[in-house]
Amino acid sequence: MHRIACPYCGERDEAEFRYRGDATVSRPAADAGEAAFLAYVYERANPRGWHVEWWHHVFGCRRVLKVVRHTLTHEIAAVGLPGDTLTALDEGEWRR
Ligand SMILES: [Zn+2]
Repeated sequence: MHRIACPYCGERDEAEFRYRGDATVSRPAADAGEAAFLAYVYERANPRGWHVEWWHHVFGCRRVLKVVRHTLTHEIAAVGLPGDTLTALDEGEWRR
């Protein structure tokens, strides 16, 4: 069982959260065209390593969080608010 440090509730069990998707994709401009929207909706990378994701604290504060998780080890390096920019310093090191 992993623990996620919710900024509102503190450290909680992973079972209280649900994965909500890739936080690195951004919506294309309204005039970007069909191909850009198809890629936005359906195409996702499958990274091996650190990844920024959306997680929902379903059985807690019910807020959406931005989490930096390692896709192989499931280690969580950082947890932030949706507006936070989580920046990679180097492999395994993150900051807000
Ligand atoms: Zn919470």
